[in-house]
Amino acid sequence: MTDASRAPRLLAAMAHPDDAEILIGGTLFHLKSHGWELGILTMTSGDCGSATHTSEDISRIRHAEAQAAADYLGAWYGCAGLMDVEIFANAENLRRVVELMRRFGPDVVITHSPADYMVDHEEASRLARSACFALSMPLYQSRQIAPAPSTKSTPALYYADPVDGVDAMGERVLPHFYVDITGTVEKKLEMLSHHKSQRDWLRAHHGVDEYLEQARRWGARYGQESGIDYAEGLRQHLGHGYPHEPLLQNALKSIAVHFIQGELIE
Ligand SMILES: [Zn+2]
Repeated sequence: MTDASRAPRLLAAMAHPDDAEILIGGTLFHLKSHGWELGILTMTSGDCGSATHTSEDISRIRHAEAQAAADYLGAWYGCAGLMDVEIFANAENLRRVVELMRRFGPDVVITHSPADYMVDHEEASRLARSACFALSMPLYQSRQIAPAPSTKSTPALYYADPVDGVDAMGERVLPHFYVDITGTVEKKLEMLSHHKSQRDWLRAHHGVDEYLEQARRWGARYGQESGIDYAEGLRQHLGHGYPHEPLLQNALKSIAVHFIQGELIE
């Protein structure tokens, strides 16, 4: 349940800087315009995302890019300080994630698909799922400096589409519902363009602006599946102990297209 006395709060808990923009950027701008308070948490600051910089330099550069992108959206940004390709759902990492999540206090969390193209994304998803459960447990201690208190309730948990819409076996992962991002896709790409180091890197490799074009293509493909121009897909975690209330579906009612196992729900 959300607290009716304040704006609902959504946290995107993702592996790397730029994942939130690529996977759910259009949805985030819709929620912003509906008055939601937004936050982005990344597990790493992208310390392996360069072929030319040192790890320390690219971490600093990408942290600043992620902050600038969050500023453009009007969102809080936090980084758990883990390392690229070393995101693992273990106790020490969970404590860091819980601490940051408690500081933000989300009503809704969106993380990666449990099955995705790389282990970093899948482990970030497991960390976010465990953290959602632990947030409101008063006896669970983050053991961080000046820890935030436990939250009042467990946030509703959602999963973004996996990268390219498929799991590690190449099987399509179908969303529960698509969000029509036709009206926000340009803002999504503008937000993504703040990740200049990644854009320049891909542009040097491909000779075209592949970073933005790829995100546009994916949005168009999901749009084609759902009969709209540009879309993003989401699934809600419906296991025991997590809220089943369709908070996001209700907030996005006018622009959500519902599917169950590939069948359109009219
Ligand atoms: Zn990623």
